[in-house]
Amino acid sequence: MGSAATKEDKNQPSSPGKVAVVGAGVSGLAAAYKLRSRGYNVTVFEAECSAGGKLRSVSRDGLIWDEGANTMTESEVEVTALLDELGLREKQQFPISQNKRYIVRNGVPVMIPTNPLALITSNILSTKSKIQIILEPFLWKKNEPSKVCDAYAAESVGEFFGRHFGEEVVNYLIDPMVAGTSGGDPESLSAQHSFPELWNLENRFGSIIAGTIQAKWSAKKNKGGETMGSERKKQRGSFSFIGGMQTLTDRLCKEIEKDELKLGSKVLSLAYNCDAKSTPANWSISYASNSDKPSHCSSYNAVVMTAPLDNLTELKITKSREIFPLDFLPKVQYMPLSVLITTFKKENVRRPLEGFGVLIPSKEQQNGLKTLGTLFSSMMFPDRAPDDQYLYTTFVGGSRNKELAKASTNDLKQIVTFDLRQLLGVEGEPTFVNHFYWSKAFPLYGRDYQSVLEAIDKMEKNLPGFFYAGNHKGGLSVGKSIASGCKAADLVISYLDSSSDNMKPN
Ligand SMILES: Cc1cc2nc3c(=O)[nH]c(=O)nc-3n(C[C@H](O)[C@H](O)[C@H](O)COP(=O)(O)OP(=O)(O)OC[C@H]3O[C@@H](n4cnc5c(N)ncnc54)[C@H](O)[C@@H]3O)c2cc1C
Repeated sequence: MGSAATKEDKNQPSSPGKVAVVGAGVSGLAAAYKLRSRGYNVTVFEAECSAGGKLRSVSRDGLIWDEGANTMTESEVEVTALLDELGLREKQQFPISQNKRYIVRNGVPVMIPTNPLALITSNILSTKSKIQIILEPFLWKKNEPSKVCDAYAAESVGEFFGRHFGEEVVNYLIDPMVAGTSGGDPESLSAQHSFPELWNLENRFGSIIAGTIQAKWSAKKNKGGETMGSERKKQRGSFSFIGGMQTLTDRLCKEIEKDELKLGSKVLSLAYNCDAKSTPANWSISYASNSDKPSHCSSYNAVVMTAPLDNLTELKITKSREIFPLDFLPKVQYMPLSVLITTFKKENVRRPLEGFGVLIPSKEQQNGLKTLGTLFSSMMFPDRAPDDQYLYTTFVGGSRNKELAKASTNDLKQIVTFDLRQLLGVEGEPTFVNHFYWSKAFPLYGRDYQSVLEAIDKMEKNLPGFFYAGNHKGGLSVGKSIASGCKAADLVISYLDSSSDNMKPN
């Protein structure tokens, strides 16, 4: 089992820098862990009384559920390193039959095809769309890379996939997928920022399908050469942890000393003082704690900010005692979401489906379905409910239905029960209901998201030692948030290294 390095370790700076991390979500905790393991002194400030941010697991009365993220993947190298170092492999839980995922078509769940043959035989799409998919590598193959990039830079997700695969694919595959993973919709989301990997593949290869195959093929080839026989075979796909996703952030918190993690400490202002001669930068922070007066901490060499941009605009930032205005930060839209946990006696579910879950396209609202989708939580992880019950996690709201996300628990219970009755044949009322409302579940990577990234860049350039990380930059998923936190930690390390070099006598 790995643990953060202690101050006596060899490869550490003799006089470690002091770094403040704002936000104890998974990105802030990953950044803090990395900095700490390299010997830096870290203080994490978290506004809420508990850490984890969008990772929130609850265990009660024989049930275990997640109110935020339910699963994650290991696509990023930073995730692999973190799980290994934290010794979390034995706590990883892989869902049973995770490849069985469903999309509703004409009011009925249909399994999503997982290979080309299954796609041809499936009734999820019309023959016209299937032909369009088969032809995509030929129709798009020989485009001029740079021209594709310029012409489609501001394209929406719907336009991007529509160009390659047609409207039906957007309505029945892309729409439910983006609603389920970001709360957004194909028309509002930017293709470049929501699907950067596919967007880059188009730039390189023209065809998304041909590009994906070639990228996978060369990744396999490279991996084969690098790790022949040395690396243990990783299980692919989504996973959670015993006890739920919060097991990950709880484990990260354990690596941080109690007095280094300030819970219930909302940061109110940041001050950068460049008069200091002896240190590369001097940051001080004031925060609201339980006491009446704001508390004050000073002499940080760098700050990793992971609070949502919306929260950041509420802070007062000063640079050499002058206000540093944040009026250049564009307004980010946030998607509201309600998460409903319900349980039903197994004998009261007539058509239980094995697998991961079901997503509902917007078009299916015409069949009376109002939820975005449901995860079959106890089908995936049987320890999440007693043997005689099924536990479901249902999402309501997003850009499709912002008002409904705010509805009362009782109204949402009726809506969820109606959808589950139609899709799975549940009978009667749920035996248990839990409702959690996120007013700002996801930032929307809208079509003008480039301006948000440029503003983050400007902030970092103008505030020495200030680094921004988290799900507003580089992806919404847990894995991408971890990667963002780790990258910010790397930037802090090289910033402090170069600053201390500059201070060395010639
Ligand atoms: C309902 C839901 C389901 C999801 N499902 C999945 C999923 O299945 N798989 C997946 O990969 N991703 C999922 N996600 C997305 C993923 O969970 C998040 O994008 C990710 O956890 C964000 O981490 P973060 O650290 O960037 O931000 P956050 O978790 O938002 O952390 C930011 C922290 O900063 C704190 N903060 C804010 N302002 C201040 C301040 N002034 N001072 C101090 N602290 C402050 C906040 O309290 C918060 O704890 C889901 C998200 C939601 C909401």
